[in-house]
Amino acid sequence: MTTGAGRSEIPTERGAGPLVRAWMLGAATRMIDAADELTELDARIGDGDHGINLARGMAAIREALLQDAEPDEPADLLRACGRRLISTVGGASGPLYGTLLLEAADGIEAGGGSVDALGAALARGVAGVARRGRSSVGQKTMLDTLVPAAEALREALGEGCEPEEATQRAAAAGAAGCESTREMVAQRGRASYLGERAVGHLDPGAVSSLLLVDALAAAAADQPPTSTPGGLSR
Ligand code: ADP
Ligand code: MG
Repeated sequence: MTTGAGRSEIPTERGAGPLVRAWMLGAATRMIDAADELTELDARIGDGDHGINLARGMAAIREALLQDAEPDEPADLLRACGRRLISTVGGASGPLYGTLLLEAADGIEAGGGSVDALGAALARGVAGVARRGRSSVGQKTMLDTLVPAAEALREALGEGCEPEEATQRAAAAGAAGCESTREMVAQRGRASYLGERAVGHLDPGAVSSLLLVDALAAAAADQPPTSTPGGLSR
């Protein structure tokens, strides 16, 4: 793909494009690989389609990325991925993950497309999921992973942490949140029909969300260190 020289206001060394691309590719690979596990989790407390649903959408994203068919700009790229999820993933999770990426795209655009904007962008995406799902933390959903992860990311970036450390902190917070769903009674989605019988099982959406957050941390760790013209590391 082109580097976009001359058509972007974003200084190359701070632009989130390569990170977002690596994130989406890593998330797609992780979710495709975990499809059976996610479906199995959903079979216990839902209808057993979560992995199949997500793998379909993620395969579409992966294919487009590998064919260089997606835009370079981070906001446009997230938007394209979100639209693919909405159009290809059935069930509750497709529109919710689609909303997450579309809102995060708006957030990253508002932040000038920089890596530093990722914290606020993810938080905006998560708020979009909560609005669309009429859901909140503690109801045994993907939000139990995403909310603490987004909060940790925003806090760490706000403290001036490097993206690698900030995303690792987000992943750790997300992992704890995901694990907390095990003891919850579900109040949203199909698992809510089970009442107490859902206790003892992880929420499948919380697990797929952890894969998403883990993929962000892995992508950040893989980004080559870049320097600003002033010689400051990013
Ligand atoms: P469906 O429940 O329609 O079969 P999936 O199996 O693909 O859809 O996704 C189920 C996951 O979606 C759940 O594990 C939960 O994390 C998430 N989910 C369902 N409803 C909501 C909601 N209202 N708000 C947030 N997340 C939700
Ligand atoms: Mg399901």
